[in-house]
Amino acid sequence: MRQRLIHKRRRSRLGLFVGGIAGIALLYWGAQSLTKPPANPGLGEAALEHVKRMVAFGPRPPGSEAHQQTQRYIQETLQSAGWTVQQDSFTAQTPIGSVPMNNILGRLTGRTDRIIVMAAHYETKLEHDFPFLGANDGGSGTGLLLALAPILAKQNHNHTLWLVFFDGEEAFKEWSEKDSLYGSRHLVEQLKASGELSKIGALFLVDMIGDRDLDIRRESNSTPWLTDRVWNAAKRLGYEKNFLPVSSWVEDDHLPFLKAGVPAVDLIDFNYGPGNRYWHSAEDTLDKVGAQSLGTVGAVLLEVIAELDRTQ
Ligand SMILES: [Zn+2]
Repeated sequence: MRQRLIHKRRRSRLGLFVGGIAGIALLYWGAQSLTKPPANPGLGEAALEHVKRMVAFGPRPPGSEAHQQTQRYIQETLQSAGWTVQQDSFTAQTPIGSVPMNNILGRLTGRTDRIIVMAAHYETKLEHDFPFLGANDGGSGTGLLLALAPILAKQNHNHTLWLVFFDGEEAFKEWSEKDSLYGSRHLVEQLKASGELSKIGALFLVDMIGDRDLDIRRESNSTPWLTDRVWNAAKRLGYEKNFLPVSSWVEDDHLPFLKAGVPAVDLIDFNYGPGNRYWHSAEDTLDKVGAQSLGTVGAVLLEVIAELDRTQ
């Protein structure tokens, strides 16, 4: 229970939420007839297959064998889809001591040096009392990005695309500024030093987007205009029932980028099971994750990436 208060800390705007209920009900019925057939049928199934493969490795906290297997799996999947892969390895100082970590970057060079980033964290939270598989928390975002990799590689883009897989999102003890977001904080510093940070036009973070009961709220730390782009794209595709017109705030891997001035949006469904019960529990298992939810978020991402590529 205590962890619920400290990891991915969330504060619901209850007033907005209650006020939005009537609107949601109307939008839900309206959306039924508007939903277009997906432009990439099979995207959700492909993403789910990747999640299945990762979950089969077992719990994957940094330093574990499953963590290394996951890294190899991400790297091989990216390379076979035609992406250039780069590792960002470092040693994190954590409350349990020094922990080796590794962010993985896939790059697809466009005609401009402007960069659009899609990101997720892939490791699972270290738990001693139960096997934490993180099918949704860590698995879903990673699985979706891996499924998007071959689709994006076949498209023509003006801008350079990066797929970023963060290590060390989770706290080892208690969520705090120092004990969390190890990978994203490290990468921001690296990109500042290399001069690439200022070239990033937008960062889309996906986390916990596989819940079969998909309800994503606008995340209040995120850049408003970028959030609007995502919600407008979802509306065009008829997914208003999954992208709710209400807000809550979540601390996640987008924060270090926001603080460094990069426009960023966190797509997260922090309402996972009754009362968020599956979150950080033994119940975050494959059966809770649905191909349709993964495919929905994937379709919205492809739509908004295409729009940014045309207009920005
Ligand atoms: Zn988590």
